[in-house]
Amino acid sequence: MEVRVQNLRKEFDRFPALHDVSLDIRSGELIALLGPSGSGKTTLLRLIAGLESPTEGLIYFGDEDASRKSVQERNIGFVFQHYALFRHMTVLDNVAFGLKVRHSSRRPPRDEIRRRALELLDLVQLPGLEKRYPAQLSGGQRQRVALARAMAVEPNVLLLDEPFGALDAQVRKDLRKWLREIHDRTGHTTVFVTHDQDEAMELADRVVVMSQGAIEQVGTPDDVYDHPNSPFVFGFVGQSNCLKVKISNGDIWFDGRSLGIRAEGEADGEASLYFRPHDIEVRDGTEGIAGVVTSSRRVAGTRHVEIDIGHGHPLIELELPPAAAGGLEHGGIAFRPTRWKLFRSA
Ligand code: ATP
Repeated sequence: MEVRVQNLRKEFDRFPALHDVSLDIRSGELIALLGPSGSGKTTLLRLIAGLESPTEGLIYFGDEDASRKSVQERNIGFVFQHYALFRHMTVLDNVAFGLKVRHSSRRPPRDEIRRRALELLDLVQLPGLEKRYPAQLSGGQRQRVALARAMAVEPNVLLLDEPFGALDAQVRKDLRKWLREIHDRTGHTTVFVTHDQDEAMELADRVVVMSQGAIEQVGTPDDVYDHPNSPFVFGFVGQSNCLKVKISNGDIWFDGRSLGIRAEGEADGEASLYFRPHDIEVRDGTEGIAGVVTSSRRVAGTRHVEIDIGHGHPLIELELPPAAAGGLEHGGIAFRPTRWKLFRSA
């Protein structure tokens, strides 16, 4: 179901945890709320669920104003980082729980509940484990059961709060792929909270980047990575380098040298030039940024190099194809960005 959030504000004891947040979540979409700790991701999720009520603003489920509806009325599926499955219940009973506790007028017959729970266990790739208890499962398996349980009630929207946060890196990666596949098969409108940019970029149809209780940018993973609209987003969704540059007649200058790149139509003056470690080319002339290689290491198919460009500037991080790094042992290097973004200070 489509979920629309309009001008939401949430204060805790006068502290604004969210201010003026508006977001349209399309039916069937998988949205990632991405941001650092304290940026308001969980608060937004809890407001959508109805676990908190907004200080101001409205939440629509479809065309209906759900702002004053209870959690039950909203028909939400929720999975938390540390999901408390019922320890005394089997996996099957855990998955069936939401259907069993329904009001008798909406409760399916027993056989039907069992059939649906088994179907869901198949879907989350845990067939044959229905008689186990949570303590007999791995962390990853428990989160799969939690998801099956959340989906059992055919929720209007699935809300997942760092569901893989407590698991180790490889399991997390596997579950990401798995979740995307399940989503593509079931089509539930899903909101996923994470502070891990790789997770957000790999999983989501659209990423909502949050900072300090506000939305900084909403876009596809490609949009936010390739066209970040602020230095914060640039740095949060990927690796970045920043240089204070001067623009003069469209030419970009750093430390008295022209970088040999143009900013057509930009007004003269100072700006911050952001570029990613892999968006560069090594130069051998007088153009570009000159520096000294302070470290160089091979990481899988690329070489990660740190460059000291002097003036007390933070080290610049570059990623080069291994072959391009041939001359690096001499210590000196000149390079220039091939893709970049300029931000003017306010
Ligand atoms: P994390 O990734 O650490 O979970 P988050 O982005 O989910 O962070 P929230 O949990 O939404 O952030 O918190 C946003 C802000 O609101 C924080 O500054 C937090 O301290 C504050 N906050 C959240 N819940 C409450 C509460 N119940 N009472 C007081 N302040 C709260």
